[in-house]
Order: sequence, then structure tokens, then C-alpha cells
Amino acid sequence: MTTLLIADLHLQPARPEVTAGFLHWLENRARGADALYILGDFFEAWIGDDLLDLGDADPTGNAPLALRVAGALRRLSEDGTRIRLMHGNRDFLLGERFANAAGARLLPDPSVIDMGGSPVLLMHGDSLCTGDEAYMAFRNQARDPRWQQQVLAMPISDRLALARQLREQSGEANSNKAEDIMDVTPGEVGRVMRDQGVTTLIHGHTHRPAVHGLEVDGKPAQRLVLGDWQPGKGWEIAVEETGKPELREVNV
Ligand code: MN
Repeated sequence: MTTLLIADLHLQPARPEVTAGFLHWLENRARGADALYILGDFFEAWIGDDLLDLGDADPTGNAPLALRVAGALRRLSEDGTRIRLMHGNRDFLLGERFANAAGARLLPDPSVIDMGGSPVLLMHGDSLCTGDEAYMAFRNQARDPRWQQQVLAMPISDRLALARQLREQSGEANSNKAEDIMDVTPGEVGRVMRDQGVTTLIHGHTHRPAVHGLEVDGKPAQRLVLGDWQPGKGWEIAVEETGKPELREVNV
């Protein structure tokens, strides 16, 4: 029994090596796993599931990429691996239609799952970065169903332009932000873990892979942070029979 967790692949047509690495990892490493959890920012941008209608004719290359990845996930799922997808701050518009095509189910952020008899909290991680007030305001807007419906009603070309604009704004804003507000707020980590009654938290988002020890209500606890994927290199957390999550860098 193996459970695998990954995050922050930021799949996009401009980085075919990362897509190839992921598909290789899926075929070779994930095959036979009991469960695969993808904890957000799987795609660099997601403008709506109707993107899939464009098929191979999509000049941006996004639809062919999404269809290829969905097909590979579906094969894994048909072989018996349970696949769960959590939204990140880039692909929060990923919907049921993509999930169905991938043989996966959407997983709410946060979610608590059972790992070897212990509750483990899974999150993307952006909601833990409460020091970044501008981003938290955007996050509230972007998670509002009415705002999402308005965006999804826009023509695809307008949504592509909006996604590009948001990425540029976030890139500029982040280059002016202090290092510590780009990371999780320790107090918020403790609060969420206490509220959820867990001593293990797994998340991505910050691109700072590490295993941090901490205390929650006087009990030893741990926070495991997945890394982002680059050409030739990725990060996974694997939980085998012992139930102990292990963070590993993987060559892909
Ligand atoms: Mn993120």
C-alpha cells in the first residue's frame, strides 16, 4: 500500500520537459499506488474546463496538454489508483469536468485524511500565508462563486488575457514582497492544526520543500512541505506501510 502526494507542477505548454517528467513519473512510480493526491497548482493556469472543447486545435497548446495529462491520469485510475485533486491559487477554476476526464475527484482545501490510522491535514498552503494581505484579499475574491461564474462567462480569449494579466501582476507584486510574508505564518499553521485536531500537515505552494518539527498543544507535530517541479526534477511525499510520510526529491 503506497500513498503518493505531489504539488506545484505548474504544467504549461512552455515547459514540455516538466510534462514529460510527470508522465514518466506517473507511468513508472505511481503505477500500482493505492492513492495519488495532487495538492494544487497542478496547472500553471486554468481558465475553465470548456478549454477541453478546443481540443488539439487550441493554438495556445493548453487544451492538448490538459487532454494528454487527463488521459494519463485516467489510465492510472482505471488500474485502481484513487486520484484526488486539490485546487491551488493558479488552477482554482479546475472543475468536475476535468476531474471526470482524469478519473479523479476534487478534494476540498483543507481536507483531513486517514494515513495508517492517524489524521493528516492536506492543504495547498496559500491560505496559510496570511502575512500577504493583498494576496489574501484576491484569494477571497477568486473563491467567490459569483466572481467565478462571471469569469467563466467571458470568452476564452478574454480569460486567457486575464490569466496572463494576473500572473504578471503577481510576479511584479511578489518581487517587492519581503521573504517572510511569502512564507506561511507560523501562528496560522498552529491555529489550523489545532482546529483540525492533527499533528501532521502536508502542503505545497511556497516552493520551500522541507520537514518542519513544531508543537501543537504541547504535542510534537510536523509540517511537510512539497517542492515544485522543474525539468528533470520533482518532489513527492510517499506513505508506505509504516504510515510515516517521507519527503523525497525525485529524478524524472
Ligand atoms: Mn500555489
